[in-house]
Amino acid sequence: MWVGRKGIMIPTKGYAAHAAQEPLKPFSFERRDPTPNDVQIEILFCGVYHSDIHIARNEWGGSTLYPCVPGHEIVGRVVKVGRDAKKFKEGDLVAVGCMVDSCGRCASCKADLEQFCEKGAVFTYNSKDEHTGGTTYGGYSKSIVVDQDFVLRISNKLDLAASAPLLCAGITTYSPLRLWKVGKGQKVGVVGLGGLGHMALKFANAFGAEVTLFTTSPGKTEDAKRLGAHDVVISKNEDEMDKQANKFDFIIDTVSAKHDLNAYLELLKRDGVLTLVGAPPEPAPVSAFSLIIPRRQLTGSLIGGIAETQEMLDYCADKGITCDVEMIPISKINEAYERMLKSDVKYRFVIDMATI
Ligand code: NAP
Repeated sequence: MWVGRKGIMIPTKGYAAHAAQEPLKPFSFERRDPTPNDVQIEILFCGVYHSDIHIARNEWGGSTLYPCVPGHEIVGRVVKVGRDAKKFKEGDLVAVGCMVDSCGRCASCKADLEQFCEKGAVFTYNSKDEHTGGTTYGGYSKSIVVDQDFVLRISNKLDLAASAPLLCAGITTYSPLRLWKVGKGQKVGVVGLGGLGHMALKFANAFGAEVTLFTTSPGKTEDAKRLGAHDVVISKNEDEMDKQANKFDFIIDTVSAKHDLNAYLELLKRDGVLTLVGAPPEPAPVSAFSLIIPRRQLTGSLIGGIAETQEMLDYCADKGITCDVEMIPISKINEAYERMLKSDVKYRFVIDMATI
């Protein structure tokens, strides 16, 4: 440790993007020494998700702050706690998801929806860091220091590496499925089988719905059935798509690239809901007629609040739900990004942080 601009700082190793067109490379930086309410965590595993690519490559409206250390599917062990951080103790297994702070006072924070904090939630990376005056750095790193109110408990019943993606892919799909009360007697569609899609299949199936996967990849059919789909439709096949018209109560769309939303709106019954969680960089045209007849709804959803994330982790521990992961050393991160862009991952890369 040494005394930095903001007091005592903890030197940390990570991987960062320094510009949109450049590969990620090793990067040394500092974490703050835990304040009274903070928890210092040794990161064991970090999931790699598609938004890491969107942000590292500055694909979302020029909002990336460089250097950018991505990663917000973090699982680790507590190594130090601040004097008032009584919720945790040294040695506890913990997790950190997409947010590390929020105002705590606005209507959204009071409703346990910190992701919609009216002052702006502080995201785990690429946000302004109120503590250091700099930028938040994420989980592609050896350690992180987080306010205890944004640290989650994780059960030792679960495989830790396979649990890391629950912190984003898990909560992002769990939250809208719960909000729209997906369950028994409902016909549910999941569009895209990647990191988010495979968790949507597992949760929708666990909640009792009849689940159909819509995929552009015929080779994923067997996996989809193993993961919880009762039926699989190849979305490039117009005849197959036509047969599904007006059949669905709820569809969750996880696709990361430009595609036709009207094709999925047409599959909904009256009052059916299409929720977007995938975030393609380009806007998508929507036909008014796809919505007004017969009164369909198009909505979106962003991750989930801290309380609901804990609920999801506890549900997963109870039901034995984890993610299907492929472990990589941190040195393979740029290769992993290229493979993700080709949908060549089953179904989430997780970095073994012992390799940093
Ligand atoms: P991913 O693992 O790369 O999966 C995306 C899937 O989309 C692919 O596996 C593929 O499935 C499908 N796809 C890709 N290109 C396509 C195309 N051109 N046309 C149709 N389908 C295509 O990505 P992810 O990590 O699950 O993330 C998915 C999206 O969700 C990203 O945009 C990410 O930024 C966003 N996200 C949003 C939130 C939120 O809070 N709303 C949170 C996390 C992530 P098939 O091969 O099965 O077709």
